[in-house]
Amino acid sequence: AKCNRQDVPHSIISLLDGFKVSKTLFTASKLKVFDVLNTPGGLTLEEVAGQINASLLGTERLLEAAVSLGLLERVRQEEISVYRNTEQASRFLVTDSPVSLHGYILHCNDMVWPLFSHLESAVREGTSQHERAFGKKKEDVFQDVYYSKDEVKIRFMDAMHSIARVTGKDLATAFDLSCYKTACDIGGCTGAMAYEFTKAHPELSVTIFDLPQVIEMRRHFQPKENDERVSFVAGDFFKDDLPKADLYILARVLHDWSDEKLHVLLSKLSKMWTPGCGLLVSEILLDEERRRPSRALLQALSMTEGKQRSTAEYSALLDKHGFTLKHVKHTDNLLDAMLFVKEEQNDKRT
Ligand code: SAM
Repeated sequence: AKCNRQDVPHSIISLLDGFKVSKTLFTASKLKVFDVLNTPGGLTLEEVAGQINASLLGTERLLEAAVSLGLLERVRQEEISVYRNTEQASRFLVTDSPVSLHGYILHCNDMVWPLFSHLESAVREGTSQHERAFGKKKEDVFQDVYYSKDEVKIRFMDAMHSIARVTGKDLATAFDLSCYKTACDIGGCTGAMAYEFTKAHPELSVTIFDLPQVIEMRRHFQPKENDERVSFVAGDFFKDDLPKADLYILARVLHDWSDEKLHVLLSKLSKMWTPGCGLLVSEILLDEERRRPSRALLQALSMTEGKQRSTAEYSALLDKHGFTLKHVKHTDNLLDAMLFVKEEQNDKRT
């Protein structure tokens, strides 16, 4: 009979090792291990070490750890062992794959990891640790941290781009959007999400509205086949007028801000509203007891002024501006979606 091993703290040990797992993935990605192994036959240890310009011993440890985590496989070919990407690694970790997470992984390594190394201070002080980690005083994390240098800006945009490409199709097809002809993706960043919406809806045009520092980089992220139904407008959603549209999209924007700041944006949106408009909000939705998913709660640990919210919390926030929750979709992808409309009687309130 199998003995009861509840006296062994397996789950605690794997939580404890979590940081080593993350850093192994980050390091293999940063050293482009998955790119050099993106070759049909696989490569020997010596070949990988040569191509990533690293020591044999260090490379061997890294590759063995990656095999143990299911990121790579090692197979014998005649007399020699070769390393290969697993199917998942080829799909999601190779830099130029259409759904590559490479940009997001580098962001986690270069921006989020340093913040987490100051987690104790973040908890004690209840503030973000950008100043300790990066020496920057921040009023607005986007303008003062992410967009302060071109190199950091591109890395942040790359991170947003990679998640948007992985989630975009599921968000674009989460609801029947056939009644909308024009959309405005507020804080739409590189446009990756917008392109998924125009792909899924042949009648829809999408305008991306984002800060000038972001919009000026748009060509860097433009897909090979340009889509004339996608356009870009630069502006600040707390200060400037928003473009007119039938459908507004707020993807991963609301969690970044406090309720007070969001009231500025939402009142602006409310004023643009005409009957028949829709608002698609995409976020990781917490359950009502705020217990899951832990991905959202872990992300909150290094957040600045925003917070993660449940469906009811988002709904209450938006209700103050007359937006009524019509549909919720748990996509089983990295982001969920909610569709809001404004009822006739609500229109009178704003
Ligand atoms: N919606 C994109 C997505 O889901 O991939 C990007 C989400 S990113 C977390 C937040 C976006 O909001 C960034 O592109 C950022 O530049 C934009 N943003 C932040 N503050 C802004 C402001 N005041 N006005 C316009 N855009 C802003």
